[in-house]
Amino acid sequence: MAATGWAVGLPGGVVMVSVARQAGDFSDPRAPEAEDARRRLVDLPWTWLRQVHGARVVVVGQPGEHSGEQADAAVTTCAGAALAVFTADCAPIGLASPEGVAGAVHAGWRGLVAGVVEAAVSAMRSLGASEVVAGLGPCIAPHAYRFSPAELDKVAARLGPSVRSVDAAGEPALDLRAAVRAALERAGARLVASSPTCTHCSADHWSWRARRDTGRQATVVWRRAS
Ligand SMILES: [Zn+2]
Repeated sequence: MAATGWAVGLPGGVVMVSVARQAGDFSDPRAPEAEDARRRLVDLPWTWLRQVHGARVVVVGQPGEHSGEQADAAVTTCAGAALAVFTADCAPIGLASPEGVAGAVHAGWRGLVAGVVEAAVSAMRSLGASEVVAGLGPCIAPHAYRFSPAELDKVAARLGPSVRSVDAAGEPALDLRAAVRAALERAGARLVASSPTCTHCSADHWSWRARRDTGRQATVVWRRAS
């Protein structure tokens, strides 16, 4: 797994795995190749989402429920329910609580401004989560994420000045990881593990900004059956 992915064990028996592009292209999760890749990666029923950069969260009551729905986060208390998000440069976030509540979030800047992280953590609390912690998978780093000042202002207005950075040329850039940290903080959750990979720089990852890739890598979160 080391060469092709990043995995972290979170509280409550929750596992988060972010895989590189070698594990498959998940841009169309219904494609036969993607179904094969799903089984190879995590052979459980997946809930994958039609991601729209919004703040809707689905509560998965049984494995595979709500699959294909328009949302950017899923949460569950079910063991054996795999929650999946697909990204190229956006941030894939895994959430967990000691009670075994699990969550997966697709977080781009629009979703962060819309409050998708706070909504997911809040949905987990409704399911009985006390302390919520997070893992952050591979995403784009600020040096490659030049941003229009107007849009950067929108993110900073919600999440604070830590989101402001500069790119390799010294132009305004969004620090997406800082934005995720700030959103987690707002939600009363804590980041405990972070992939060092920048999708723009890693040839092993799909990147829209770097290569106009239409492919998407998968991040899957699930709780092991105890
Ligand atoms: Zn980079």
